[in-house]
Amino acid sequence: MLDINLVGDKMVGRFLRVKCDKCGNEQNIYEKASIIVRCLVCNEVLAEPTGGKVNLKVKVAQPIPEI
Ligand SMILES: [Zn+2]
Repeated sequence: MLDINLVGDKMVGRFLRVKCDKCGNEQNIYEKASIIVRCLVCNEVLAEPTGGKVNLKVKVAQPIPEI
């Protein structure tokens, strides 16, 4: 598990729970990821970096609640 104490600050960005369109796998991704985020199961691209918030290629299953 990620240490959520480190991501409580809004300036740092949040994690989003997304669902892969291809295989249905759900995983957490960082909303300000600086690299392409791929599905851990099927390697489908889930999000691409933009310099700010990622460009999501799939649906958000649910936002991770902020602490
Ligand atoms: Zn997948």
